[in-house]
Amino acid sequence: MLMAVGSLTVMGIALGGILGAAARFLAVEENPLEEELKAMLPGSQCGQCGYVGCGQAAAALARGEAPVTLCPPGGRAVAEALAKRLGVTADLSEHEEKGPEYAVIIEELCIGCTRCIKECSVDAIMGANKLMHTVIADACHGCAKCIKVCPTDAIEMRPVPMTLSNWHWAKPETEHTLH
Ligand code: SF4
Ligand code: SF4
Repeated sequence: MLMAVGSLTVMGIALGGILGAAARFLAVEENPLEEELKAMLPGSQCGQCGYVGCGQAAAALARGEAPVTLCPPGGRAVAEALAKRLGVTADLSEHEEKGPEYAVIIEELCIGCTRCIKECSVDAIMGANKLMHTVIADACHGCAKCIKVCPTDAIEMRPVPMTLSNWHWAKPETEHTLH
């Protein structure tokens, strides 16, 4: 019994040492600019920018390989903030200023094909094959990906209504927005 406990303790210490060394010597150095840009993106991982998620989009921005207008859900506000942070100019005339939106499925047009459910990365759609589908408004982050796959144009985006629970003061201007 004592032998077993002793060997387990030795194994634990050895493995801990190996993991500690691996964490130290194999650690991937983070790019501070990339992390900063990632924090400025919505974080919805919707992939509309053409990258797998916001992290990959931030990495491309930091390398100067992606335009500051790459993020459709971020809209004009995110594009402006990215342009200021990166010190570049961008044509934002196509980016109208709009608030947060959520998807709504029009019941009469839904044929229950389930395409939108498969497309939604946050499981915000409920439904079953050949039955009417619906969007859980609170779970929808407004990426609009489901609209593109619907064969009957049954989905539309609507502005999130302002209520006491989602109203907030306008964000104060940061150092980035002042320069
Ligand atoms: S817009 Fe559509 S795909 Fe995007 S989160 Fe909302 S329900 Fe899901
Ligand atoms: S993709 Fe359109 S038709 Fe198909 S289930 Fe979704 S809302 Fe209904």
